[in-house]
Amino acid sequence: MKNFLLGQLSPSDLKRLEPNLKPARFEQHHVLFEADEEIRHVYFPSSAVISLVITLSTGEMIEAAMIGRDGVAGASAALDGRISLSRGIVQLGGEIMVCDIEALKSFALESPKLLALLIRHEQTVFAQAQQSAACFATHQVAARLSRWLLRARDLSGSDMLPFTQEYLAEMLGVRRTSVTVVAHTLQAAGLIKYSRGRIQILNTEGLQDSACECYETVKGQYARLLGANSSK
Ligand SMILES: [Zn+2]
Repeated sequence: MKNFLLGQLSPSDLKRLEPNLKPARFEQHHVLFEADEEIRHVYFPSSAVISLVITLSTGEMIEAAMIGRDGVAGASAALDGRISLSRGIVQLGGEIMVCDIEALKSFALESPKLLALLIRHEQTVFAQAQQSAACFATHQVAARLSRWLLRARDLSGSDMLPFTQEYLAEMLGVRRTSVTVVAHTLQAAGLIKYSRGRIQILNTEGLQDSACECYETVKGQYARLLGANSSK
């Protein structure tokens, strides 16, 4: 299983769930679900990366959490949350295993292990969202951009990220000019190379030094809740 959460299921649970998992390819910027709308499917990314974003009345949207092959989007609906509290948008195109919400819900009620996994995963999404609030209020744009690029790299498994500066500014909730200045600084330091519509990470360790503590904090929370020993 390319999705880490599905990979943690017992062989019998996975076997039962598998007929309900439909692989599908999604393009970058595809909207999977809207805020305040009922969710009908749950999304387990294999290679795609999903952003959970909050939209404002002005049309602006800011990212609250990023979900990739280590997680699932829309699972709270399977835990009876029913509606989504954020918009789910494909940030990096790729494959996602799409599962019918009712099927996942009935399996979760029958499998304590699956139920626990979904609940712990929702905790990691909440952890990301509250970390994003602290990060937005406190940390500099360069540190936040570094954190964001590292997370996108972890989830996509690629050093080449097809993001425009407009998109990065939107996700980080800052002006485009701020992203331009910061990207220039990171490039001058040899950490990234940017060209029209894409960013290449050249020095991961250097970028980790440049990132705020939020990168490691979220990673640590994820490892504690969903790491190899978390189910014991
Ligand atoms: Zn931060």
